[in-house]
Amino acid sequence: MSDLHALLGGTFDPIHFGHLRPVMALAQQTGLTRVTLLPNNVPPHRPQPEASATQRVDMLRCAIEQQPLFEIDTRELQRDTPSWTVATLEALRAECGEQQPLGFIIGQDSLLTLAKWHRWQDLLSLCHLLVCQRPGYPTEMETPAMQQWLDQHITHDLRQLHQQPAGCIWLADTPLYTISATEIRQRLHQNLSCDALLPAAVIAYINRVGLYRD
Ligand code: ATP
Repeated sequence: MSDLHALLGGTFDPIHFGHLRPVMALAQQTGLTRVTLLPNNVPPHRPQPEASATQRVDMLRCAIEQQPLFEIDTRELQRDTPSWTVATLEALRAECGEQQPLGFIIGQDSLLTLAKWHRWQDLLSLCHLLVCQRPGYPTEMETPAMQQWLDQHITHDLRQLHQQPAGCIWLADTPLYTISATEIRQRLHQNLSCDALLPAAVIAYINRVGLYRD
């Protein structure tokens, strides 16, 4: 089997256990050996993350200090346009070649809104979609057409993820975490503890630089 390489895009404002732990479980289930975190660029006309791009990357570094599974790719932060996942995947595909199996990891909430993504129909020609469960979101797609699209591409055969470069959707059986970055920012603004929600090294960084305070 070829080495399956996967990517996780996000704003990571901040990164938390709802990102890290499902992905670690996914890696164990699927034999993933490398996950690249892709912090996204938020263009000026959109609501801005509270942390700067540099701080978001610093927090990623803190989070993965002891985690050899993860690496960081900051290419989306180097652009001044929105982070189109499809464009990033095209660039990565050009770099790794046609045969390399690539997976793009998303949570169930992102799967449900996939039809709003720029050129979403092209995604499966570039990668597999590896979907982590997220509590509180329906498992059915919003329209029959999207459900049909999903059903057409689902695989339950792990070998397909490793033997094909792209084209499959894997609904992973990952542990449920009701954690969101929004909740963490709110709790920190209220001086509430977030110890169980994100890595201690990230909390230490947040406290050191005074992020998410009023
Ligand atoms: P915010 O609350 O600021 O919208 P978020 O916590 O949803 O942020 P993002 O950085 O937007 O985090 O998410 C990046 C990716 O991680 C998305 O694909 C999202 O579906 C997934 N994700 C985030 N939190 C969870 C979670 N608790 N369980 C599973 N997947 C998650």
